[in-house]
Amino acid sequence: VKPEQTGGSLTLGDIFIAVKTTKRFHQSRMELLLDTWISQASEQTYVFTDEEDDALKKRMGAHVIFTNCSAEHSHLALSCKMAAEFDAFMVSGQSWFCHLDDDNYLNPRALLKLLSSYSETWDVYVGKPSLNRPIWASEILPNNQTKSVRFWFATGGAGFCISRKLASKMVPWASGRNFLSTSELIRLPDDCTVGYIIECKVGGQLLPSALFHSHLENLQLIPTSRLTQQVTLSYGVFENKLNVIELSGPFSPQEDPSRFRSLHCHLYPNTSWCLQAVGW
Ligand code: UDP
Ligand code: MN
Repeated sequence: VKPEQTGGSLTLGDIFIAVKTTKRFHQSRMELLLDTWISQASEQTYVFTDEEDDALKKRMGAHVIFTNCSAEHSHLALSCKMAAEFDAFMVSGQSWFCHLDDDNYLNPRALLKLLSSYSETWDVYVGKPSLNRPIWASEILPNNQTKSVRFWFATGGAGFCISRKLASKMVPWASGRNFLSTSELIRLPDDCTVGYIIECKVGGQLLPSALFHSHLENLQLIPTSRLTQQVTLSYGVFENKLNVIELSGPFSPQEDPSRFRSLHCHLYPNTSWCLQAVGW
């Protein structure tokens, strides 16, 4: 009996991490993640993309999954990737499914600490609520009438996790082609569809966590001293300004615009390129 089955300590090996990306971001975003947090969780991290890429394949081997999803920002293209992530998780046998975007920094230690606080026998869906209230959607019924539904969902851009117990119950709506048909029922993006399946179909509920962050919030507001406790962080443009975490170094904003390299050096100071950066 493995320790986790007796309620013992969870390890990174129990977590399946899926990163959604697209051809256009292989160089600009994926290289940064591979140099930083993915290096600490390479065994359990899989990247879901839309086009073959020898450079990425060389770095990740079988951990890069070329879906046949189109390289568009459409609801259907994105739901197609989420379906591929869900199916790969289901066959993996791991206990937890975590979804991330390619502009997220994941702190594996903080993730382990968070997921260890839940029992594996629970239905867990944890992440950052996208809105401060549930979303209303109209579901298309088989007779072409519509029904108003309301549910909470975790914003995909901040990452979220689901326990296997809950994921198993989602299969009729989330596996294979079902995810696409479900997302068509409410005509909303992939992360909304996940919330809809969990809250409206399975009867689960989102556990809000303040440890997940997207670039749609002001990342400067996270106290620097708390950065190493966050499960996910992000970077991007928000209200026409560069939105990044507040961290002084070791890299300058010019060398490290996302601040992810600097953050990585705070978390893993023995990384070779971190030692060089501080001149040791
Ligand atoms: N993405 C994708 N296909 C696209 C555009 C984006 O799979 O055509 C992915 C992208 O790699 C990222 C996520 O969708 O993981 C969100 O994209 P982005 O950060 O560019 O947009 P946002 O919605 O955060 O503004
Ligand atoms: Mn983004």
